[in-house]
Amino acid sequence: MGFSTINPNTGELLKEFPMQADEEVFAALGTADRRFRGDWRYRPVAERARIVGRAAEILREQRDEYAQYPVLEMGKIARFSYFEVDLVADILAYYAEHGERLLAEQAIPGEPGAVLVSEPIGPILAIEPWNFPFYQLVRVAAPQLVAGNVVLMKHAENVPQCALAFARLFEEAGAPEGVYTNLFCSVDQVADLIDDFRVRGVALTGSERAGASVGARAGRNLKKVILELGGSDPALILERAPLDHAVDQVVMGRTYNSGQGCVNIKRVIVVGRERGETMLAALKEKFAAITIGDPTDEATQLGPLTSERALDGLLEQIQAAEAAGATIAYGGKRVDRPGFFLEPTIITGIDEDNPLFHQEAFGPVLSFYIVDDEEEAIALANATKYGLGAYVFDADTAHAKEIASRIESGMVYVNSCFADSPGLPFGGVKNSGLGRELSEIGIGEFLNRKLIRVA
Ligand code: NAP
Repeated sequence: MGFSTINPNTGELLKEFPMQADEEVFAALGTADRRFRGDWRYRPVAERARIVGRAAEILREQRDEYAQYPVLEMGKIARFSYFEVDLVADILAYYAEHGERLLAEQAIPGEPGAVLVSEPIGPILAIEPWNFPFYQLVRVAAPQLVAGNVVLMKHAENVPQCALAFARLFEEAGAPEGVYTNLFCSVDQVADLIDDFRVRGVALTGSERAGASVGARAGRNLKKVILELGGSDPALILERAPLDHAVDQVVMGRTYNSGQGCVNIKRVIVVGRERGETMLAALKEKFAAITIGDPTDEATQLGPLTSERALDGLLEQIQAAEAAGATIAYGGKRVDRPGFFLEPTIITGIDEDNPLFHQEAFGPVLSFYIVDDEEEAIALANATKYGLGAYVFDADTAHAKEIASRIESGMVYVNSCFADSPGLPFGGVKNSGLGRELSEIGIGEFLNRKLIRVA
């Protein structure tokens, strides 16, 4: 298809963008590499941070314009698009403000005369998905640019206007050519870029399939790679969790961004048969009351999926789950209107042999389980190959934290489905990925933490 804007609310093709030829792609890498070696790496952190901080200001000044692009290109509900833009500005501002401290020289306990200094390593190639078309980019760009690396960004093909707008932020903020480069390139060209010695690190956010392919290529080239992949995040509703709050959080956590988030709640596991049945009935009622529609409409609670392909894939998953013995407790069908809309869906009776038990559902499809006790809940939470995020609901937060420590995931959030914040690390374990983005850990992923020992 190539890079193009298709409005998911109507299915209309609005604009196409040419792919770059090999010469253009490698010329861009050359410019980025020269910029890195020539001066960017040597500029004081404060100077690089000033440019990133200015990008945050520009984004805040142009908030209305920026918020339009995700609505247009991937069908994000307008108020959530503003939420994303504001979070992205906060992330830019955070690394501008705290960069110097995060990159400061560190003494080593018990080793007088030895220090670790943080040095950038060179051009970083980032490959990103469309679901949070600014937030995914900033998770790499903000920390890495402050750290002194330069970034080449291959965005998903369905959000080209988001890609161009994001690149413009750094240009307007005064970043010289080669510091942040948008690439309209193919997956094959990505592979060739990974093979090029000048690319010194690779970050991918996306599916397991893409992660395995990019990870293998980077490994063959002996390059550091960070992979932020899929998830099947469980929400454990423990015995003392107030059900009303849990129900509201699960509805929001499953339907937010049309369910297309790596850390959306994808599975609910309720402890206790009676409470489980009560929660299922309440969820069905809430799902039935959800307003589905145009993402620009204030009243809309569930917008379209991003593409026809995404919708077809989910319908296939639902049908396969039903064929394998699961029950569609609510929804499960395409909404009869133009665009790529799926009813919010609840599926019960998913046993271990059901394909859905092991899959990520990247849309508003909730897998619902009832178990007898916490041990069973923990075992079920850990029973997939994924380990990105998890949620624990309980009135006793100390107990919830104990349960959190037994869940195989990179992140656990207690009593809330909204979790992201500029200074917190993001990433998973198992097939959900390698490494972290954001925080001291994320900024450190592409640094040479060099030992200097003075005798
Ligand atoms: P995707 O198909 O893997 O695409 C992601 C990006 O990778 C796109 O830019 C895509 O390019 C590119 N790509 C695909 N195959 C590739 C390959 N073999 N080599 C190099 N690049 C390749 O994923 P998606 O469907 O857009 O995104 C949804 C997935 O991302 C879900 O699994 C979701 O959970 C995951 N995700 C994870 C996180 C996290 O932080 N862990 C966050 C958000 C989403 P094209 O557009 O050209 O195909």
